[in-house]
Amino acid sequence: MNAAFSTSVKFDLLKVGHCQHPECAALRGGSRRAIDFPALVGLIEHPQHGLLLYDTGYSRHFWSATRRFPECLYRVITPVQLAPEEELLNQLEARGISAKDIETIVISHFHADHVAGLRDFPNARFIATQTERLLCEKKGRLGRLRRAYLHDLLPADFEKRLRIAEEAATVPLPPNMQPFTTGLDLMGDASLIGLDLPGHAASQLGLSFHSEEEGLIFLVGDACWKIEGLEQNRPPSRLAYQLFHRGKVYDETFAKLRALLKATEAPRIIPSHCSTTWSQRGGTRRIARD
Ligand SMILES: [Zn+2]
Repeated sequence: MNAAFSTSVKFDLLKVGHCQHPECAALRGGSRRAIDFPALVGLIEHPQHGLLLYDTGYSRHFWSATRRFPECLYRVITPVQLAPEEELLNQLEARGISAKDIETIVISHFHADHVAGLRDFPNARFIATQTERLLCEKKGRLGRLRRAYLHDLLPADFEKRLRIAEEAATVPLPPNMQPFTTGLDLMGDASLIGLDLPGHAASQLGLSFHSEEEGLIFLVGDACWKIEGLEQNRPPSRLAYQLFHRGKVYDETFAKLRALLKATEAPRIIPSHCSTTWSQRGGTRRIARD
């Protein structure tokens, strides 16, 4: 068995649209001023497995999927901004990458701001947790909407292209990932490690890997919304917990990430909607084919 992270990959962080919410929603005790919640997407180049994405952010499909009632409530509650130059396909094209070049998309969870672009990638296989996938499909239209899930965002052949994350082999993790001790070997070469971060959704697939330029990276999806929240022990507002699958489980995941933050040589933790992270490390251009 390969040791975890024995293969390094290239990594860029992209911003694919944003919405705004009060700061206090993301950080308990914060102000009521509106702050940006960018939809961040990981672009990864693996030496053997080619180009991968971690989530897709928003896309124009979000508007078509929220045209009718009751789905239209989603866009009223979450007004989305997506400038043409921020559309994922346009950002990839500017790097000389076509939609067909994306071979794999790792899906953190099925909230619309993470999966709205899936239909744009005809050659990609998808990796997601079965736990979250099954729960999303069970509810009726209103129930799905309550879970921020829009069925129309999935391509018609989604099931055929889906690989279940839980079926991947388990690998032990090095001490600097403590308290996380094992992960899922998503590519079979111990390069990209999936870690379950439940609570925000029933299950959520975090992704950890060794990047050539920045060392160990841990993409944590919505397990926290602002990196300051972890640093200062300020979870989201109690009101935001109403949207979470299970608040108590969210707190347990949050506490594990806080413990990880303090580890020696800890990975860089990247939440999906953190404007601080985006302003500090976003916009790099290490992966391009032009
Ligand atoms: Zn979410």
